[in-house]
Amino acid sequence: MRTPLLLALPLALTALNAAADYPDKPITLIVPFAAGGPTDKVARDLAEAIRKPLGGTVVIENVGGAGGTLGAARVAKAAPDGYTVLLHHIGIASAPSLYRNLPYKTLEDFEYLGMVNEVPMTLIGRTTLPAGSYAELGKWLEANKGKINLAHAGVGSASHLCGLLYQSSIKLDMITVPYKGTAPAMNDLLGGQVDIMCDQTTNTTGQIESGKVKAYAVTTSKRLSAPALAKLPTLDEAGVKGFNMSVWHGLYAPKGTPKAVVDKINGALRTALKDPEFHKRQEALGAVIIADARLAPVEHKKFVEAEINKLSPVIKAAGQYAD
Ligand code: ASP
Repeated sequence: MRTPLLLALPLALTALNAAADYPDKPITLIVPFAAGGPTDKVARDLAEAIRKPLGGTVVIENVGGAGGTLGAARVAKAAPDGYTVLLHHIGIASAPSLYRNLPYKTLEDFEYLGMVNEVPMTLIGRTTLPAGSYAELGKWLEANKGKINLAHAGVGSASHLCGLLYQSSIKLDMITVPYKGTAPAMNDLLGGQVDIMCDQTTNTTGQIESGKVKAYAVTTSKRLSAPALAKLPTLDEAGVKGFNMSVWHGLYAPKGTPKAVVDKINGALRTALKDPEFHKRQEALGAVIIADARLAPVEHKKFVEAEINKLSPVIKAAGQYAD
């Protein structure tokens, strides 16, 4: 049935007014992982850069747990008014293949707001590991089968996906230890309670630089240029053929957020991503800022859909599910 014109007009005007006044109160940016971790670091830099172009305050709330799916579910169910926004990563595309009962529909429950950056990962270990190179790590893993602890940020996190693909590539099962983010996982790695972890360079660069963890390889197909990371081989070079993973981030709002609000956030995001200070801080941590078509909500959504389809068979082959 068609909406009568008399009814449609006031509705359209209300939506327009909402967008014209937006934002007139603080925006909550949900980070679906623990504070101090890699996604939190992207969020804090972005919140600072987007504040001015958006014309409002951005408050970060960390909703960690279940590999990012709790925070994503919170945003999927929030009021669609532009005041609750999610910063999420590749986990938004791996979770549909990993969870039997995901509490939201990735392609239906969100407005896509544009992508932010791509972050490579590193394979790191506790400093007390005897292995000094990737080749030595390979031997140590073989010799310690059944006893190796691999830390990650929960099923659906990037560290989980990387760890899952790594175990399946080298055909060696490890004891996986989940945390609410790789910030607390890193604490345990520093303390020697766990052995190894795959984590984003936004969280590992400083620790590698100061020698607090051992770094063995990068997960991307090309070596990295940051001074602390340049000498690391790629996993592919080190013998894990075809391994290539980096962690992309994007912004999401609840489905039904007015288009004018979506456009306003997207415009502010594009300006924020050009901010020289944001670039400097993110690039120093190994992140690459998105500067292509995926800045547009339509292309962002297409990319996520393609990633879901790309990851699904790989995850099925690696064979792991959660409820
Ligand atoms: N991004 C997560 C965090 O911020 C870690 C992960 O996904 O592995 O803790």
